[in-house]
This record gives sequence, structure tokens and C-alpha cells, in this order.
Amino acid sequence: MLKIRNLDAGYGKLRVLKNISLHVKPGEIVTMIGANGAGKTTLLHTVIGLIKPMQGEITFLGRSCDRATVGAIVASGCALVPEGRQVFAPMTVEENLLLGGYVLQKEQGRAAVLRQLAHQYELFPILRERRRQLAGTLSGGEQQMLAMGRALMSTPRLVMMDEPSTGLAPLIVRDIFAIIRRLREEGNTVLLIEQNAKAALGIADRGYVLEVGKVIVQGSAADLLANADVQRAYLGRE
Ligand code: ATP
Repeated sequence: MLKIRNLDAGYGKLRVLKNISLHVKPGEIVTMIGANGAGKTTLLHTVIGLIKPMQGEITFLGRSCDRATVGAIVASGCALVPEGRQVFAPMTVEENLLLGGYVLQKEQGRAAVLRQLAHQYELFPILRERRRQLAGTLSGGEQQMLAMGRALMSTPRLVMMDEPSTGLAPLIVRDIFAIIRRLREEGNTVLLIEQNAKAALGIADRGYVLEVGKVIVQGSAADLLANADVQRAYLGRE
């Protein structure tokens, strides 16, 4: 579904990602773990078209997308749930969700958007309850659900999530990860970026470890959980 080959990317002359290769197959949850500043967000921003690669190739659903615009990449079925949620605080929950359906509305009309809205309310019942509430008044966990629902409104084939657990209480993190697992059960494909390696590897099929812009280990989630170096650096075990 997503294939990245020998990718270098960064800001101006600063090369943050160095020779990254990775792939995500349909129906998988793949996680990219790594410390603060390793380049995880830069990777997602490059895939979605916010940053242009310096070198390398990105193909999504068999088509090269490393020169495409963000709009074209989203329209082709790739969605991003950004770090820090970035919901539109002065707008209601429902208005935020409808904004996520913008591309769908253009392509398939209002009825498709309303079907998607109903589906998101089924997946996140709390959003239905709060649909007339301003997004800025939601709790952190609810805002994360809203950010996820907004991304899902575009009926993406691949959902990329940037650190959904940041700043949330452990119980809420558990709920968020349960929802990610459910998304996969419904046939979605997920690329999950996390600092919370334990939780991410707990639901992922495969994972990559990113250190200062390079993939240093990759493998099945079970192999990474059992890897002594990964345990020492990321799982808080000696
Ligand atoms: P975090 O968990 O903090 O988001 P991350 O792994 O996602 O970490 P990135 O945000 O991708 O890391 O940042 C990787 C490197 O790129 C860091 O050294 C950061 O300082 C640098 N960087 C990020 N954004 C910019 C920018 N807009 N301009 C210049 N450098 C940047």
C-alpha cells in the first residue's frame, strides 16, 4: 500500500531523515517508534506531501506521490491524524468532522458525507453526545477521538497517526489503542508513530525503530518486544 525507498528529507539544508526504507501492507498496523526528535513527524509530513523529499521514492497504492500536493495525496486515500490533535477549537465537534469530509463531499456528495458522519458517531459514541459542543472544551482523550474521526471522514485507505497517546492518562491511552485495533478489524490500514513503544508494539503487526533519522531495527512486533536493545532503550527494562 505504502512503499518508501531510500528517502532523505528535512528542512532547508537540514537532512533529518536519512535513507529510510519502509513499507505498509493492506490491513496491517505498522508502528514507527523512536525518541523525541528522531524524525517521526518529519516522516509523516513527507508522506502526506507537506515536505518534499530530497531524495528517494514514495509510492502509495502503486502510484508515485513524492511530488504530489497534500490535497492530491489525501484525495488518493491517505489521511493524517496530526500530533497534538489540532482540532479547530472554536468550532463544534460536528463542524470539525464535516471539515474532514470536504474531499469526500467534492467527490461523492453530501449523502456520502452524512453516511460517514453516522459511522464516526458509531465508532466514537462520545462524539455524538458532544456534537454541538465546541471542540476546544473537550478533554484531551475526546479531542484525540475527534482528530481520528475527522481523518476517517475522508474514508482513507491508510490512516497515519502521530503520537495519539501523548499527554493522555493511561486509561484513556488504553481506549485510544482499543479503537486503533478496531479500525484494523474494520479493514483499515494504520501507520502509527509513537513514543509509547510498549503500547504501540502491543497492537502492531510490525515495527521500525527510528534513531536520529535512520531505521536501526525492524521486524515483527513480537521480535521487537523481545529484542534486548529495544527493551533497554524503549521499553524501560534492563
Ligand atoms: P517529536 O516526538 O518531538 O515530534 P519526532 O521524532 O517526531 O519527535 P521531528 O519532529 O520529526 O521528530 O523532528 C526531527 C528533527 O527535525 C528535530 O531535530 C527537529 O528539531 C527538526 N525539525 C522539526 N521541524 C522542523 C522545522 N520546521 N524546521 C527545522 N527543523 C525542524
